Amino acid sequence: MIRKALLVIVAALAALVGVLVVRTLGFSSKQVEVEPVAAIAVDAGSVAEHLGGALRFRTISHQDSAPFEPYPFIDFHAYLSETFPNVQATLEREVIAGYSLLYRWPGSDPQLSSILLMAHIDVVPVEPGTESDWQYPAYEGRVAEGYVWGRGTLDDKGSLIGILEAVEILAAEGFQPRRTVYLAFGHDEEVGGSGARAIAELLEERGIELEFVLDEGGLVTDGVPGIDQSVALVGIAEKGFITLELTVRQEGGHSSMPPPQTAVGILSAAIHELETHPIPGGIRGASAAMFDYLGPEMPFVQRLVVANRWLLGPLIEHQFGASPEGNSMLRTTTAATIFRAGVKANVLPASARAAVNFRIMPGDSAGTVIEHVRRTIDDPRVEITPPESSTNPSPVSDIESETFTQLQQTIRQIFPHAVVAPYLVVGGTDSRYFVSLTRNVYRFAPVELSSGEYNTVHGTDERLAVDALADMVRFYVQLIRNSAS
Ligand SMILES: [Zn+2]
Repeated sequence: MIRKALLVIVAALAALVGVLVVRTLGFSSKQVEVEPVAAIAVDAGSVAEHLGGALRFRTISHQDSAPFEPYPFIDFHAYLSETFPNVQATLEREVIAGYSLLYRWPGSDPQLSSILLMAHIDVVPVEPGTESDWQYPAYEGRVAEGYVWGRGTLDDKGSLIGILEAVEILAAEGFQPRRTVYLAFGHDEEVGGSGARAIAELLEERGIELEFVLDEGGLVTDGVPGIDQSVALVGIAEKGFITLELTVRQEGGHSSMPPPQTAVGILSAAIHELETHPIPGGIRGASAAMFDYLGPEMPFVQRLVVANRWLLGPLIEHQFGASPEGNSMLRTTTAATIFRAGVKANVLPASARAAVNFRIMPGDSAGTVIEHVRRTIDDPRVEITPPESSTNPSPVSDIESETFTQLQQTIRQIFPHAVVAPYLVVGGTDSRYFVSLTRNVYRFAPVELSSGEYNTVHGTDERLAVDALADMVRFYVQLIRNSAS
């Protein structure tokens, strides 16, 4: 009897292993094959000097109420016109919302929808007190040791100059796009993107149809766990955000005769509830697509796990969600960021306030977040105040489209050693204003970085390798050739 039961178990296990292995073997690569393209000649030294020049304009977006300085932006516009004479001669240019730029390169076939390449002009400030930590000054645009150094090299003037260099090269060759090519450079991405929004509204007003939008977001990195190769991550969606204010009001008084819980205690308990009851998530949408693309490129054991998400999904979620980065791709995140209460150690606080910032996963919304918070805190003493405005997550772009296939081809033509994978952008980009103009919004900067280099974004010693910059130009040249000719 026992032997028979054992046999049944062994047979069931063997069948299960069989299913797992068959699914793993059938989990085939989603990478598109491409023919190598002829090398695109780029004068890397001159491009580096152009980027260096662009970094010298302090086009800074301040988070606080520090006064906006218009002249760096106006001078930057003039610098671009001088530096790219063929762009200047061939494309129409409009200044939008005071300081943002919209270029238009008319296509020969007006029936075709247009393409839109984006970057932003503004940069974040250098944190006061860290100026002298920089190996080369942040606003001098120095080219040294094979790098261009300065605030904005990676975020996002590298892309901006890369796009303009590419158009300059093509225009000088006499290239004529069939599709109209738009270039949109917002001036305040780091503080909300009113410039990009104005451009999107203008294009909508003019009835422009877009084939695709390409903005910053992913990049080519060697830092993806479980993958030996470089990975080109293409953002196909981005999270939304909402900040809720929580308030508790209590009677004040002397701390010598306190109630069992003060306003501080009540609010702390509410935050504790939110932290211990995260909003449910999982591998879905853009994150599921990422695993579909990366899984087949992994070594056998990992491939087996990813290929059998129907069974092993919880295991992946547990492992992947253990790091803050992984967790942020699986769910709407909760971060208590501000807590204010009390004025004096021996006075009961009459009120306590906290701000909790949520980054909303596609599939959730501001409404579902508020509902979760109410249900989880479940305490009428805690007032929950929604903000005047919040941003819902973007739609998830189409990865079955020809446009996405073509984007993958372009990436693999310029970065043949890299695997392409869609993913979820957990921050925000200016491209979110364009989602009503096309289903194909992609977030990818064609730059290959090590994780050490990536960590300089918004930090000290922000820099971009001259070779990587030249590849950015090649990518944009190839992209325009592939998609607009
Ligand atoms: Zn940026």
